[in-house]
Amino acid sequence: MKPTILDFTKEELAYHVKPAFRAKQIFGWVYHQYAQDFMQMENLPKALRSELAERFDIMPLLMVRKEESSDGTLKYLFALRDGKTIETVLLRMKEEWVDEEGVKHASRYTVCVSTQVGCKVGCSFCLTAKGGFTRDLGAGEIVAQILAVKIDQGLEAARRLNIVYMGMGEPLDNLENLAKAINIIKDEEGLSISGKRQTVSTSGLSTKIDKLGAMDLGVHIAISLHAVDDDLRSELIPMNKAYNIASIIDAVKRFPIDTRKRVMFEYLVIKDKNDDLDSAKKLVKLLSGIKAKVNLIYFNPYPGGLYERPDEASMKAFSDYCIAHGLLCTIRDSKGLDISAACGQLKEKTQEELKA
Ligand code: SAH
Ligand code: SF4
Repeated sequence: MKPTILDFTKEELAYHVKPAFRAKQIFGWVYHQYAQDFMQMENLPKALRSELAERFDIMPLLMVRKEESSDGTLKYLFALRDGKTIETVLLRMKEEWVDEEGVKHASRYTVCVSTQVGCKVGCSFCLTAKGGFTRDLGAGEIVAQILAVKIDQGLEAARRLNIVYMGMGEPLDNLENLAKAINIIKDEEGLSISGKRQTVSTSGLSTKIDKLGAMDLGVHIAISLHAVDDDLRSELIPMNKAYNIASIIDAVKRFPIDTRKRVMFEYLVIKDKNDDLDSAKKLVKLLSGIKAKVNLIYFNPYPGGLYERPDEASMKAFSDYCIAHGLLCTIRDSKGLDISAACGQLKEKTQEELKA
C-alpha cells in the first residue's frame, strides 16, 4: 500500500519532494484547500503532480456511516484502506456564548480521535476492548480523522478546533505514531492546532506518560482514573496490576504542565461500584497534591455489558463533595447518548446490524 501524504511532517516531505518549498505548497493544498487529488495542485509542475499521484495517496479514510444526535454531536465510522473501521466524534459545544466578562466566544468544536483499531488494555467497561486489538493507526490515519471531519462539515481551514485522543485505542500504546501525528497537526502551515489544544487521554501507562513528557510536545494529558483503590481499578483496567495508581500519580507529578493549566482526571462513574461518597473522599485525598480537575462521566450501558449507569442524585452528591473539598469537578453531559455515544459503540452496532 502507498504511504499517504498525511503521514509526513513538512520537513519529511521536503526531503522527498525537491525543491523544498514544494512541501509547503502541498501542505497548503491538502490542509487548507482540502484537495483530494494531486492533479488539482495547479502551482506544482505537471510532472511532479503525476509523480506524487504515483507514490502517495491523500485521504486514507472512507466514511461508511455518520450519525447525528439531537444535541448536535456527530459520530463517524471510517473505513481504513485495509477495510478495518474506526470511530471519530465531533463534539459541538455551545453555539455562541458570552462569558462572565461579556466576551463573546464562538462555538467550540472538539474532535475525538482514535489511535488504534481495537485496544490491548482490555477495560471491563469498554466496548472497544471487547473486539480485542487489531493494529496501530499510522500517523496519517490519525491526522486524517481531523481533516476528514473538517471536509465533511465544510469547516473553513482556519476554524479553531480542539483535539482529544479519546476515541478507540490507547494513545500511549502507539506513542511513536501519535507523537508524529501531533507534530503534523501542530504545523502552522497545516492544520495548525497547537499542543495546548490537544489532549492525550490515557488509561495510565506510567512509563509512557514519562516518555510523552520528555518529548515536550506541549500537549495536555487526561488520566482515565475511574477508581481510587487498586483492587477496583484492576478489576476495571487489568493493566493497573502493572501500573498502579501510585505510579500514575507519580508520573503525572513529573509531567511538564503549563502552569496555568490543570491535569484532567476522568472518573467513569458506575452504579454501586465507585459512585459512593467514600470514593469521593478518597479521590479528594489522592489528588490533593496535584493541580487537578476531575471530569465525572456517566457510565453508558450497552447490551451485554456488566455495569449500570449511576443515578443523577449520586453523581451530583459525588461532585458536590469534591467541590466542597476544594477539588475542581465537572459532570460530563452525556453527549450523543442517542447515537451510541461512548467509544466503540457505533462500530459494534454496525457489526451487529451486518450480522443480522
Ligand atoms: N484509551 C484511552 C483513550 C480513551 S478510551 C483511555 O482509556 O483513556 C475512550 C473513552 O471512553 C475513555 O474516557 C473511557 O473512559 C470512555 N468509555 C469507554 N467505555 C465507556 C462507557 N461504556 N461509558 C462511558 N464512557 C466510556
Ligand atoms: Fe482501551 Fe481506553 Fe477502552 Fe480501556 S477505555 S479498553 S484503554 S480504549
